[in-house]
Amino acid sequence: METCSKERLEEKIKTFSQFGATGNGGITRLSLSPAALEARAEFCRRCKALGMDIVTDDLANIYATKPGTENLPRIAVGSHMDSVIHGGNYDGILGVLTALEVVETLSRNNIPTRHPITVVVWTNEEGARFPPALMCSGIIAGKFSKNAMFAVTDNQGVSFGEALKASGYQGDEANRFNAKDYMANLELHIEQGPVLEDAKKTIGVVEGVVGMVNYAIRTKGQSNHAGTTPMQKRQDALRAASQLICELYVKLGAIAPDLVFTFGHIECRPNVHTVIPSDVDFSLDARHREPAVIKKVVEVIKALPKEMMKCQVSYKENWARDTVPFKPEFVDFVEKNAKAFGYSWQRIYSGPGHDAQYVQGVTPTAMIFVPSVDGKSHCEEEMAPLDACWKGCNVLLQTLLNIDSNY
Ligand SMILES: [Zn+2]
Repeated sequence: METCSKERLEEKIKTFSQFGATGNGGITRLSLSPAALEARAEFCRRCKALGMDIVTDDLANIYATKPGTENLPRIAVGSHMDSVIHGGNYDGILGVLTALEVVETLSRNNIPTRHPITVVVWTNEEGARFPPALMCSGIIAGKFSKNAMFAVTDNQGVSFGEALKASGYQGDEANRFNAKDYMANLELHIEQGPVLEDAKKTIGVVEGVVGMVNYAIRTKGQSNHAGTTPMQKRQDALRAASQLICELYVKLGAIAPDLVFTFGHIECRPNVHTVIPSDVDFSLDARHREPAVIKKVVEVIKALPKEMMKCQVSYKENWARDTVPFKPEFVDFVEKNAKAFGYSWQRIYSGPGHDAQYVQGVTPTAMIFVPSVDGKSHCEEEMAPLDACWKGCNVLLQTLLNIDSNY
């Protein structure tokens, strides 16, 4: 079986880790920032050197295409190059660099494909500068409106629309990823969790992306003086919120052992040390692959008391997304190839969101995971062993060739 070059892949990872390097082993490469534009320029330079044809769409997504031998729709492969603040050298970029290495292997080894192969770089996956995450695949999948997204501003007041225009990468809407011109989409990514490493597995055969709900929960009391108000007369919104959170830990924790849920954001007002809190807002993020489990989470939220410790309780759903299963035949190719190479593997569901989950709504998709060292991601320590990256790249190459010859 054909394999990619580990040396070439290592060189790619090292080179791209310079764009936005923090000096502590990680990167800050916010979407459309100068560092991100450097990475884009280097990506395009390498694609041109491979004879690929490059276009961008109105969202600055990049499409670099190696022609096929027949008049067939394209196979897409890729990921994103932006990062969070103080992120690592693998999230997203590894999917782009393995895609590039796959094309380089096909070119150097003179392996023709029937379908054109398009390496796709998705703009603003992280949403770290311009929220939300998965913005541009989301626009293409019809999840977000273009106008609303173009108006989103960063913390300097620059809108996403302005940043796109200034980037030099904004192209034609007609170039967007679409169901007619693309017949498959593949994305390799680091797992961003500890499952594969704990199980001593190299390849994650990703069956889909788990569903989730996100709620904003509020407790409303009354501000008053911290020195004069007796405890029994208080309407302390933080006391109510903390009681509520403790109860939710117990109730949600009892739903299913593998349900994950997080109260990651909390805001307390007026947030002054001599004032009893009047309002508290906190978030709940809950994820599970079974819709029935998510439904139970929703039931718990709907059954929240209207009043808690003399404070009003209210909630609002921020967003919900269903579990997205990937195309079973493609997932089977990934598994078959991991087996054929003799790599250890297991089937897995993705907890994090990925562009692939939106693209699946447009074109059949599959993902391949490689392990994250210590399960770390979105931090400078983020790492995937080179050997695992290379093995993942080989499975990616072979899966692409399977799709190419079978469809
Ligand atoms: Zn990512």
